[in-house]
Amino acid sequence: MTAPLTHQPRIAVYPGSFDPVTLGHLDIIERAAKQFDRVIVAVLNNLSKKPLFTVEERKELMKETTAHLPNVEIDSFRDLLVNYMDQKQAHVIVRGIRTVTDFEYELQMASTNQKLNPRIETIFMMTNPKYSYLSSSMVKEIARFRGSVVDLVTPEVDAAMRSKYSEMTE
Ligand code: ADP
Repeated sequence: MTAPLTHQPRIAVYPGSFDPVTLGHLDIIERAAKQFDRVIVAVLNNLSKKPLFTVEERKELMKETTAHLPNVEIDSFRDLLVNYMDQKQAHVIVRGIRTVTDFEYELQMASTNQKLNPRIETIFMMTNPKYSYLSSSMVKEIARFRGSVVDLVTPEVDAAMRSKYSEMTE
């Protein structure tokens, strides 16, 4: 009798600031969810960016945005990404690429993570051309001046930005 095949679950981590999550991010998450058994979206505090939303708020918005995807979970951590990956027994980092500028930065990060832990692979997913121009900063800029972000984020994210910016102007 042959032993049953044991299948090591394929776990990917999609790290980012997600301040806030856009439909461009969601597109990457939906596509990654088809390729891996589990996708952990890790919401991070990027010290070089001044966030609009707290990590907790960003996690909450991300949970609402990905609620229809059963193999996607939302987390955050304060450690080196490669250490977190070990802890979660994840082997793959997912990142999205929109432009050549993204590529240069991403290549540097992927090479650094490769050096820190050769077991870990970074996989890049090309943006859906529909969202190639879309970034969290652009969405915030539009929302700040009361422009419409209807096709760029979920209604929950739209509402959260409106209430943030109206609090700020009170
Ligand atoms: P970070 O601060 O890590 O760059 P972001 O939230 O800006 O965090 O982006 C997280 C990841 O999502 C990055 O890999 C980024 O290139 C990717 N990304 C952002 N916007 C889009 C988009 N419109 N299409 C595809 N990938 C995207």
